Amino acid sequence: MAEPAYTDDRLIDGAPKREDADVALRPKRLDDFIGQPQAKDNLRIFVGAARKRGEALDHVLFHGPPGLGKTTLAHIVANELEVNFRATSGPVITKPGDLAALLTNLEAGDVLFIDEIHRLNPAVEEVLYPAMEDYALDLMIGEGPSARSVRIDLPHFTLIGATTRSGLLAKPLLDRFGIPIRLDFYSHEDLQAIVRRGADKLGAAMSDDGAMEIARRARGTPRVAGRLMRRVRDVATVEGAVLIDLNVADRALKRLEIDGLGLDPLDRRYLRLIAEHFGGGPVGVETLAASLAEARDAVEDVVEPFLMQQGLIQRTPRGRVLSASAWGHLGLAAPKETAGDLFGK
Ligand code: ADP
Repeated sequence: MAEPAYTDDRLIDGAPKREDADVALRPKRLDDFIGQPQAKDNLRIFVGAARKRGEALDHVLFHGPPGLGKTTLAHIVANELEVNFRATSGPVITKPGDLAALLTNLEAGDVLFIDEIHRLNPAVEEVLYPAMEDYALDLMIGEGPSARSVRIDLPHFTLIGATTRSGLLAKPLLDRFGIPIRLDFYSHEDLQAIVRRGADKLGAAMSDDGAMEIARRARGTPRVAGRLMRRVRDVATVEGAVLIDLNVADRALKRLEIDGLGLDPLDRRYLRLIAEHFGGGPVGVETLAASLAEARDAVEDVVEPFLMQQGLIQRTPRGRVLSASAWGHLGLAAPKETAGDLFGK
């Protein structure tokens, strides 16, 4: 499936862009990975145990919004285990045979990473079940009445799945992950540390408050922080600023139309749409996506999680509802019933 168009022009969505291939900035070991203390602690224990026993690590599922470090952590797990890392993604594996080919090429202990695992097609998923559970592949040989099934043993491998929506995973698939790990949005302090480290690696001089300003406006997401940092650095270069301080960062971010909460023009369009056209909601996500001319997936995966985490919107069974603070952020007066009656139901 083609990437939705929004990924090309939106500066702060979490979706990958080419410049993210900046692998030098990617932490390689657990100790270098900033933030997500709980995820790191768990991984450290499970990886340590697998190594000690000389066994393959149990299958791991990372879930959470785009850009929080799922792929990075999958790489790190393979590094820590000192095994090979093979990567693919749900939409790329179209036929059961594609997956069978990947699986039969693994060595014992290897990590197979499947990004966007919620987008695997059901026929491929069927192959994955016995592979995950029994390290076996059931292949059909021949067709019609003479067809028979042959079982092939696979090396004990570790599947690492990543998804922005664990809710879309089939229950049997979800159940086969022994280690489910949820990633949350990062604190400003963690993002500040990530920005500082990125700036150091690029050789850009940055003050603490400059790094904090970028962190505060990075939507809780390391990928966004990295991208903003590079854009701010561009502005500093053009302006001839030697040090990226609070003023330089603030001016650059204003120019990029990132506001004090880290919201970009699409976020604000989303909020304003609910406020001005739907009286603050509730309104269905389909309607919102259509009005914004964005894919529904993009709205649900990229736009909404952060707005929800910030308490600007709430998902209710009847649709999305603006909170009182969203009205405040837009500089609009909330209708009377919004603050109390509608919100929270
Ligand atoms: P996801 O797979 O969740 O979409 P990625 O693992 O691709 O996210 O991370 C996106 C970008 O953010 C990468 O460039 C990565 O280097 C950076 N990144 C993610 N988490 C961290 C972190 N904890 N520390 C430093 N950089 C990070």
